[in-house]
Amino acid sequence: MSDTIFDKIIRRELPADIVYEDDDVLAFRDIHPQAPVHVLFVPKTPRATLNDCGPADAALLGKLLLAAVAYAKREGFAEQGYRCVINCNRGGGQTVFYLHVHLLAGRQMPERMS
Ligand code: 5GP
Repeated sequence: MSDTIFDKIIRRELPADIVYEDDDVLAFRDIHPQAPVHVLFVPKTPRATLNDCGPADAALLGKLLLAAVAYAKREGFAEQGYRCVINCNRGGGQTVFYLHVHLLAGRQMPERMS
């Protein structure tokens, strides 16, 4: 897996607006937000895409989503609602090849995904 922007953010070599961190997950604001709240949740151990995850990653994938839930509750918009998205590979819209969950909130999400 090549060194990505997100590897550099995790190593604190690139600046980012970090909003959440625990032992396994780091979260920071997206540089081009698509909603008033747009946060990216990344595992501290790298995987390029969702396709690179297997049964051994089940707990880690759960931790990513639960970190997003914890953040939504902490920031007070969990009940209002939010959207979590994982883009996989170019056909899925992925541009940074380091697994990440987008958390979008603060506006009404369209019912259709596209
Ligand atoms: P993807 O398209 O791979 O699902 O999402 C990558 C996201 O990373 C995009 O929403 C993009 O705006 C964001 N992004 C790209 N470069 C940077 C950066 O240097 N810093 C931050 N915080 N976000 C970035």
